[in-house]
Amino acid sequence: MSFELLHKLCSTPGVPGREEIFREVVSKELAPYADEMYTDAMGNLFARRRGTGKNPRKIMIAAHMDEISFIVKNIHKDGFVYFHPLGGFDPRVLVAQRVKVYGREVLDGIIGIKPTHFTTPEERQKVTPLDDLFIDLGLPVDKVKELVRVGDCITLERELIRVGNFYCGKTLDDRVGVYTMIEAFRKFSTSEDDIYAVATVQEEIGVRGALTASFGLAPDIGIAIDITIAADMPGVEEKDHCVGMGKGAAIKILDSYSVSHYGLVSFLRDLAEKKDIHHQMEVLPRGGTDAGGMQLSRAGIPVCTLSIPCRYTHSVVESVHQDDVAMTIRLLTDFLEHSAEFTY
Ligand SMILES: [Zn+2]
Repeated sequence: MSFELLHKLCSTPGVPGREEIFREVVSKELAPYADEMYTDAMGNLFARRRGTGKNPRKIMIAAHMDEISFIVKNIHKDGFVYFHPLGGFDPRVLVAQRVKVYGREVLDGIIGIKPTHFTTPEERQKVTPLDDLFIDLGLPVDKVKELVRVGDCITLERELIRVGNFYCGKTLDDRVGVYTMIEAFRKFSTSEDDIYAVATVQEEIGVRGALTASFGLAPDIGIAIDITIAADMPGVEEKDHCVGMGKGAAIKILDSYSVSHYGLVSFLRDLAEKKDIHHQMEVLPRGGTDAGGMQLSRAGIPVCTLSIPCRYTHSVVESVHQDDVAMTIRLLTDFLEHSAEFTY
């Protein structure tokens, strides 16, 4: 486990549609292990390792490069910056956060809020709608207008740290998935099938990159690597926990974007049992992954998602358990080595 690599992935920006800086980092990590690499028109990155079989099939593993983030919508006459969200934000967790604005320079900023001294008891009970939130850059309006333009990217700012057995920070969705994909792509010895590690774009705004990437590639099987919701915390009934932290790699049965291929689910579960890899089965009532895009490509593709349980998803304190990350890397690596045994 390389904390340094995960840290680097978490601190590199990747706004939907503007994944180029992040793609460069991923590309460097995958290149030494790939026989071929290319990027498509949407910006999806493909790394191919050739299979040893006579008629190798194409296995696509996908993790998304984009993060929930914002773009500059408007600059207020006093220099405050209004922003448009890219991805599913909860405005409750945005106030008093630090951000980075990628203007002509990279600027630090603050999502401001009226001080408690000046709020009424009613105001204190209310959540400020996303539309009313603003960024303070600590600069006069002229300077802001010189450095920042409408459409510039904004990301949340928070350093990845260890908290007990957790890794905690922003954008573990899906940096931990990209990390898992890189590690498995490096680790697997050989496969009879062609393995394509695909770092996709624009997942957070409707699973767009995976759809076009899989149309272009026409894979035989698709596996998405993403986080899933671990709701095992106070205030949530046990029946609604979905998955638990530290209980292993989650094999997705379904979410609201995809129903995993039953044969593929069984194959992954059997593999995990045979290899003694801690795992759990996942039924997620809301949300989706790149598997949703892959499944609906062309005439349809058997898909499954390997998920890493994540608490506090879509906040700056997203948390994953180190054992779950390790187990997901192991299961994915084993799958890549044994994919040829799966037929449908
Ligand atoms: Zn995700």
